[in-house]
Amino acid sequence: MIKTKTLEEIELMRESALIVSKTLGMLAKEVQPGVTTLQLDKLAEEFIRDHGAVPGFLGLYDFPNTLCMSPNAQVVHGIPNDTPLEEGDIISIDCGALKNEFYGDHAYTFEVGEVDKATKELLKVTKESLYVGIREFKTGNRVGDVGYAIQNYCESHGYGVVRELVGHGLGRKMHEDPEMPNYGRRGRGKKFSEGMVVAIEPMINLGTHRIKQLRDGWTILTADGKPSAHFEHDVAIVNGKPELLSTFKYIYEALGIESDEEDEFRQKTLVS
Ligand code: MG
Ligand code: MG
Repeated sequence: MIKTKTLEEIELMRESALIVSKTLGMLAKEVQPGVTTLQLDKLAEEFIRDHGAVPGFLGLYDFPNTLCMSPNAQVVHGIPNDTPLEEGDIISIDCGALKNEFYGDHAYTFEVGEVDKATKELLKVTKESLYVGIREFKTGNRVGDVGYAIQNYCESHGYGVVRELVGHGLGRKMHEDPEMPNYGRRGRGKKFSEGMVVAIEPMINLGTHRIKQLRDGWTILTADGKPSAHFEHDVAIVNGKPELLSTFKYIYEALGIESDEEDEFRQKTLVS
């Protein structure tokens, strides 16, 4: 069952999402060759608690950490460990936070030092596909419209769209209805309505869309060992249109990146 949110609830969810956004912004400067994903995990847990929230993933389905850290060929759900990041790596950092009984959940794939051209392009296209998908999240459209848009955009670049893992509704639970696949058929699936909140999160592979899972029961990686990218935003439908609750602006501030990519998804009449 889809649980739509009131405007007040959506503003509470924006608060939770922004804690995650700020956490990712804080981490952006720390993602360097030599740092371990476990060190980053500790920083994130402290930061989230200092902001009056609780890590959203820690203990959820028994996940052992605050962050899902998935370098290179890992798609998602990687567990932080003692292996230092290396120059040329990419790392998907997925983070959740719980505040005021609502979850925030979003993710960014960072470059560690200088990354090769093909991988850079994968990151660029995957992030673009996130916005291509968000643009379709509006009243009257359906789940398949978002999935189709993301799939079509990524496959036109020759990339593999992961099937087994999907975006999701978000609220008092980390994973609510509906499931939001990154593939699909136009006009199919559940219909969107005012007050819906979802996490849209394309997981896109440089090579095959096929994946496998490590014996740890968590880590998902590409079947061919090629890199995978992952970007995630939390989005509500307000006034029939997609309203972004999370933001990459703290990451961009930390990295000195100029971007207006989020502007079309913010309604000036709403607070913050
Ligand atoms: Mg996530
Ligand atoms: Mg998610």
